Amino acid sequence: MSGAATAATAEATTFDVLDPADGSLVGTVPNATVEDALAAVEAAAAAGPAWAARAPRERSEVLLRAFELMRARRREIAELIVRENGKPLPDALGEVDYAAEFFRWYGEEAVRLNGTFATAPSGANRILVTRQPVGVCLLITPWNFPAAMATRKLGPALAAGCSAVLKPASDTPLTALLIGELLAEAGVPEGVVHVLPSRRSGAVADAVLDHSAVRKLSFTGSTEVGRALLASAARTVVNSSMELGGNAPFLVFADADLDAAVEGALVAKMRNVGEACTAANRFYVERPLARAFAERLAERMGALPIGPGLEDGVRVGPLINDAAIEKIEGLVGDALARGAEALLPGGRIDRPGCFYAPTVLNDVPAGSEILAEEIFGPVAPVVAFDREEEAIALANDTEYGLVSYVYTRDLARGLRVGEALDSGMIALNRGLVSDPAAPFGGVKQSGIGREGGHEGLLDYTESKYVAIGGAA
Ligand code: NAP
Repeated sequence: MSGAATAATAEATTFDVLDPADGSLVGTVPNATVEDALAAVEAAAAAGPAWAARAPRERSEVLLRAFELMRARRREIAELIVRENGKPLPDALGEVDYAAEFFRWYGEEAVRLNGTFATAPSGANRILVTRQPVGVCLLITPWNFPAAMATRKLGPALAAGCSAVLKPASDTPLTALLIGELLAEAGVPEGVVHVLPSRRSGAVADAVLDHSAVRKLSFTGSTEVGRALLASAARTVVNSSMELGGNAPFLVFADADLDAAVEGALVAKMRNVGEACTAANRFYVERPLARAFAERLAERMGALPIGPGLEDGVRVGPLINDAAIEKIEGLVGDALARGAEALLPGGRIDRPGCFYAPTVLNDVPAGSEILAEEIFGPVAPVVAFDREEEAIALANDTEYGLVSYVYTRDLARGLRVGEALDSGMIALNRGLVSDPAAPFGGVKQSGIGREGGHEGLLDYTESKYVAIGGAA
């Protein structure tokens, strides 16, 4: 079966969204054309100035209403996420809470977009710096967090006074459409936000980026597509934020609290069934603890109930589609062929749907593809290390740099290692970093820019400097 992928061709006027648990139809959405997308840009450009001119307090109140509406419809939104994405209901409920918080946080931030005023060092003039909305934004989101990736962009864009065209992933457009409706209900004026599902992603993005009104691209997705979009954005020098792939190392030192490390590993690996850019991808454990850690993790991962995401107690839902399973099978097969030990064999499950049982591989040899590639599934490769510098070198041996996890009871070591790791985020004795109030983002080929926190708001603004003479 094809999972959530749809059977429609790029030319069709609509396309179907399928449930990855059983292939059933969840909904049918319009398949936006390039002309539809350009019309949305024109409408966003027309509506933008009035939205930007609204009092910050008014924009704030609209976002806070959107937060309340999401909270009120929490269960309904979560069930929709489960149906189109497959993740278990507890993960989907967690995502709705996380997603709604971006509206609350940016509702609060909308009234804190401050500038600066200073005397030039020469004394000749005054320096006034203000923040203005960047303009019409193209927002492109992935399927793994259909609600949170949309609100993480729409929240700051609206708070800053921007208008936006959001193109959600074709596997999961229904959640984004529902969020668009909620925003309208919350008071976002017509024309300011457009949610445009389209299976013509490349053509739509290209045409939109070439439109002179579009001044911002914010993309979350694979590094491969991010690179192509950056090249397109270069044609018209569009301000670009990129939240791309990851290959997160999870370091456990021998002085760590083993229970806490296993608990954190379970969260970092199994949230969203491993389909997260922040998912722990490689576990490096100091040798005295390595075997015990791998065995305990295998025991915990092996005990997680598997099934359709809406069934009671399920913690491991289906993966997004068959291609995801095939990729993981290739990575696991390569590691086993090189001599890794299958401590928890896991693997594809013989039942309808895209199910893959949690897998733990111990003593994964250097050079295995699974240590270099984003797994995006419930597989944990474990590798033993002997020295701190070795662990840091192994962790940094990747083109990615989104997040790194470190477990140690020694705070000085935690801070030292955290500084040495090439990633935009460090989780110290914690299995989760995501927080709307914190700057989320990566270095190296994991991205450019930050989402969340105050920085996330600044990414949707341009500073304007006014040199004021005559004051001296
Ligand atoms: P993807 O294939 O890159 O797709 C992401 C989005 O880009 C979708 O809306 C997709 O539309 C669109 N797209 C695909 N090709 C395009 C093109 N040529 N031009 C313009 N848009 C295009 O990624 P994915 O498989 O959905 O998501 C998984 C990836 O996202 C992973 O690598 C993960 O690490 C990353 N991710 C990163 C973060 C972060 O914050 N750093 C967060 C979540 C996920 P269609 O669906 O229509 O193809």
